[in-house]
Amino acid sequence: MTFTPMIRQYLEIKKQYPDAILFFRLGDFYEMFFDDARLASRELEITLTGRDGGSERVPMCGIPYHAADGYIARLISKGYRVAICEQVEDPAEAKGIVRREVTRVITPGTVTEGHFLEDKKNNYLASIAPFEEGYGLAVTDITTGVFMVSSFSGVRAWSELIDEMARLNPAEVIIPLAYSDKMGGDLKQQGILAVSGYRDTAFSPAEAVPAFEEQFGSAGSLCNRTIDYHAAVAAAGALLIFLRETQKRVLKHINKAAFYRPGKYMILDANTRRNLELTRAISDGSRRNTLLSVIDHTVTAMGGRLLRNWIEQPLLDVAEIKARLEATEDLAGNAMLRLELKSLLKNVYDLERLTGKISFGTANARDLIGLKKSLANLPLIKQLLLAQAGAALLKDVARSIDPLEEVRELLEAAIDDNPPLSLKDGGIIKKGYNHEVDRLRQARREGKSMLAGLEERERARTGIKSLKVGFNKVFGYYIEVTRANLELVPEDYQRRQTLANAERFITPELKEYEDMILRAEERLASLERRLFDEVLERLSGEIHRIQKSASAIATADALYSLAEAAVKGRYSRPEIAEDGKLHVKDGRHPVLEQVMGPGRFVPNDTFMDNEESRFILLTGPNMAGKSTYMRQVALIVLLAQIGSFVPALFARIPVFDRIFTRVGASDDIAGGQSTFMVEMNECRIIVNEATEKSLIIMDEVGRGTSTYDGISIARALAEYIHTKIRAKTLFSTHYHELTDLDSMPGIVNFNVAVREEGEDIIFLRKVVPGKSDRSYGIQVARLAGLPGEIINRSMEILKTLELAAERPPQPSPAKEWPAYRYKENECHVIQELRRLNVLEMTPLEAINKLYMLHKKLTESATLKTTSL
Ligand code: ADP
Ligand code: MG
Repeated sequence: MTFTPMIRQYLEIKKQYPDAILFFRLGDFYEMFFDDARLASRELEITLTGRDGGSERVPMCGIPYHAADGYIARLISKGYRVAICEQVEDPAEAKGIVRREVTRVITPGTVTEGHFLEDKKNNYLASIAPFEEGYGLAVTDITTGVFMVSSFSGVRAWSELIDEMARLNPAEVIIPLAYSDKMGGDLKQQGILAVSGYRDTAFSPAEAVPAFEEQFGSAGSLCNRTIDYHAAVAAAGALLIFLRETQKRVLKHINKAAFYRPGKYMILDANTRRNLELTRAISDGSRRNTLLSVIDHTVTAMGGRLLRNWIEQPLLDVAEIKARLEATEDLAGNAMLRLELKSLLKNVYDLERLTGKISFGTANARDLIGLKKSLANLPLIKQLLLAQAGAALLKDVARSIDPLEEVRELLEAAIDDNPPLSLKDGGIIKKGYNHEVDRLRQARREGKSMLAGLEERERARTGIKSLKVGFNKVFGYYIEVTRANLELVPEDYQRRQTLANAERFITPELKEYEDMILRAEERLASLERRLFDEVLERLSGEIHRIQKSASAIATADALYSLAEAAVKGRYSRPEIAEDGKLHVKDGRHPVLEQVMGPGRFVPNDTFMDNEESRFILLTGPNMAGKSTYMRQVALIVLLAQIGSFVPALFARIPVFDRIFTRVGASDDIAGGQSTFMVEMNECRIIVNEATEKSLIIMDEVGRGTSTYDGISIARALAEYIHTKIRAKTLFSTHYHELTDLDSMPGIVNFNVAVREEGEDIIFLRKVVPGKSDRSYGIQVARLAGLPGEIINRSMEILKTLELAAERPPQPSPAKEWPAYRYKENECHVIQELRRLNVLEMTPLEAINKLYMLHKKLTESATLKTTSL
């Protein structure tokens, strides 16, 4: 097969980018050929055509270059890569085929523009380097310049890494090719769009270390622990090599590698993040009705991204939590301060992404005007916070805002206040900044006014009133005379062009002015471009400082948002309890209460401690509100640990190391996940990893299998968690057979109350002490509108079943789980106390009861302790 020279050039370039779709620039189009063309025409719904490629026609499709952004974004969002191949010499000067080169490869993790990017979400690109004892991780967002590294070792390394991936939700991950089979599946399961094998050598010290040092200087400063060092540098180096190969330029805004430990934050596994709907709704993956949507009142994109990171990384350090709470309280208590802060933040553009554009060299003049306007607000925000904020964290923020006055002054002086979008046509540099620019503009103006004078004079000389001077790109300036006046044209006019009803002429004088104007314009354009590039160059020297201010602004904005959420939602400041007791008064579910509207949500209390009330067994009919209640407790804890106020009248919250959730099989888990196996896998993670300091939410465990299996597993799990793990646990179940677990000290029964009215039930949404002894399934079915005949028939069947079962199956008494022994009599006394309805007792009954209880305790005090 023989190809034309151009197709040969195409194939030569395509060979270097086998796994990208090659956008091959041909004049005003990007063309795709062969398989790329077939694929792109299908994915982008554009017509597949063909082109003479030599001995045969080759499939082709194309898109206009000015519309490329949208098409690229669509391909990227489907996980493809796009290699942009440009003409790198002027076609007019080319001998033979125009030289073409790939100038950039765009992948899901390296997008810098377009609607694929969300303002308030980081677009992460991650790299994982396996090593003997674990994994190194590097993560960057090239739109903002964030670059973080970490490492994971020990037996749980992989699952910790997967949890971290669930948090970061990167758009793309690169891993060594040799591992792509082994690691790829687990990563894809986290919903990562693109997991790409990358050549193994990039992760080797020989390549990775120099790449790292070139970008960040000495790698030694990164971390002194050698394991961390090697793994982290391998991942980071490979990531940098990947960036260099795809971006083909030095990214100056990526200038600091921050080593971090995920262990500094509360670990939330992927299931828990999903179940609690922190940033993504289970139903449609959107932000609607998530915790983030309720508390996000951020004004800037930077603040939005930071707040999202806060939600995804609750704190463990009491001092840090308190610092944020203090700042939130400070802002929540000062409406004027909030108002002023908001109006200043409104004028701050996305400084982080601006530094990305500066570094990419893609910033245009309007971006710089945006930067200038933003910078003007920095000193004001700084002053405002210094003057009005009391909280230490806010003062810190204020102090670390660098007002960048001289940068602002430079932009003020250099860039026109109303510049055009394009850098090509001039008009960017402000009057007075550069003498030569001013002079050339003057010359251009003079040339134009001379043209005007010439037009006047020629009209007078020839007597043609409609004579006019015009301009086009091919002929330059000309004098146009309509057909009717042609006989008046003087001798010295030279004809250039004939139109339908006019002719165009030039004169030597006209060409003289033209020269003057065009020369001035040409020089002006290149001079303005040079001056603009110089400004960019100076800005890129200040990226570091801009980033520092950006991060301070982001923090101020995120705190503002927490305060706003607190005021809007009538939240209160949680107290961080150091005694392990959790106490919530009138707690609400932050999302549901907002969805339902004011006054409709029924608040509930929660009390848990390390002794008597460590494990809440929650029963109640379907739809009573069990799941809502348990999630509400988890969300309140989580909010407290990010430093937010909480939806409750009052809350004391101990710091939890982790929150685990296991949500019932038939609850809304997205497609195909709701198998019993998955349920048991989640349980395994919980029992393996939870500690005494964890919070466990178990919603209807065992529902995915037959009744007896289910009861048995649920019971065994409950006993085990309660005695072995001792984590604070909320455990809902529709098996009311489990309620006798309350014979174990520390386990208490609660139920969500319903009221029976005749054959109907009314949901009260109130969580009250005690067990529920019926499941009211048939009543719920009636509420759902199942036909009366079926309801009645169910009643009949139920009656026969109840009669047939002489006694419902009784589970074996609670196992003697060793290690924990309690005095039996004490347990009985506590249980009796709990069951008392004090308000309905007469004084006499009360004193009798008190006497009896006291006797029970003192009499049997000498008996030997029994295990339960
Ligand atoms: P369960 O888990 O017991 O089946 P859910 O927690 O799913 O019940 O709650 C069912 C519905 O009841 C929720 O969708 C919500 O509309 C309503 N609900 C639950 N708790 C409350 C509450 N505290 N106040 C008002 N409505 C509630
Ligand atoms: Mg439920």
